[in-house]
Amino acid sequence: MEVAKTIESVRSLVKAARGKGKKVGFVPTMGALHIGHIALIEAAVKKCDFVVVSIFVNPTQFGPGEDFKKYPRPLDDDLKICRRAGVDVVFTPTPSQMYARENLTWVNVEKLTDSLCGQFRMEHFRGVTTVCAKLFNIVAPDIAFFGQKDGQQAIVVKRMVADLNMPLEIVICPTVRHSDGLAVSSRNKYLTEQQKKDATLIYKSLQKCEEMIDAGITDSEKIITEMRSLLSRAQSIKIEYISIVDAETLQEMDRLKGKILAAVAVKLGTARLIDNILVDSNKH
Ligand code: AMP
Repeated sequence: MEVAKTIESVRSLVKAARGKGKKVGFVPTMGALHIGHIALIEAAVKKCDFVVVSIFVNPTQFGPGEDFKKYPRPLDDDLKICRRAGVDVVFTPTPSQMYARENLTWVNVEKLTDSLCGQFRMEHFRGVTTVCAKLFNIVAPDIAFFGQKDGQQAIVVKRMVADLNMPLEIVICPTVRHSDGLAVSSRNKYLTEQQKKDATLIYKSLQKCEEMIDAGITDSEKIITEMRSLLSRAQSIKIEYISIVDAETLQEMDRLKGKILAAVAVKLGTARLIDNILVDSNKH
């Protein structure tokens, strides 16, 4: 496994692999790798012949007062995980390489970034789409792998690639969870043992939503009220939003129909946690 610290070195490694006819897979991450990231890497190893993982805590997707500075950066552990998982190249640029001077060019996906996390994290998605566009231009993969865990991000990145005719495929992998249902996240490191237990209510509230849809309930307000009361069982949980939206447009709807995304964001201690599920409400 190679560690490419510069844009030039990752480009030349990918070029050499492509010259041998290899299909290039790419997994962009912010590091602090866990089994959720490993699942993406495994999917890439399975589908591609040459796998690049980037580890870059992207400053432009963090707002003022967010956890950019304290975000965990256990690089040695991350490199071990990548080596074991069969990664070919780990790309570890510095912020000054990725943003060599004042950034004047931004990629903005409209409408899809107005709802859910977009209401609470100003400019977050602009940072995500801009860094993804830069990374796609640098790595030039055939396929990039993202997690359903960040459901809105997955939809926004897919739309950017389609709208800008970027020559790659986006594959979305299922959310990896702990046995108690809590979605695996680098930010779970901020939680105490008690907060981890309380955090299991997040997935329980999403399961409640699915159960209600299964039972034929289509009134989203009614479902959200139930989810809110479930989450309120833990005083430590401060709800940021509970939204049930169309899975393609991310628009809210009073009466549920078709494919929906149910998404929750909460603050728990110093952590901000998000989770979501996709449900086909027509099936029920
Ligand atoms: P991050 O390092 O948090 O930016 O995440 C990098 C990629 O890993 C993103 O595409 C995430 O959606 C994905 N990811 C993070 N946690 C999980 C998880 N629990 N299951 C599946 N994918 C995940």
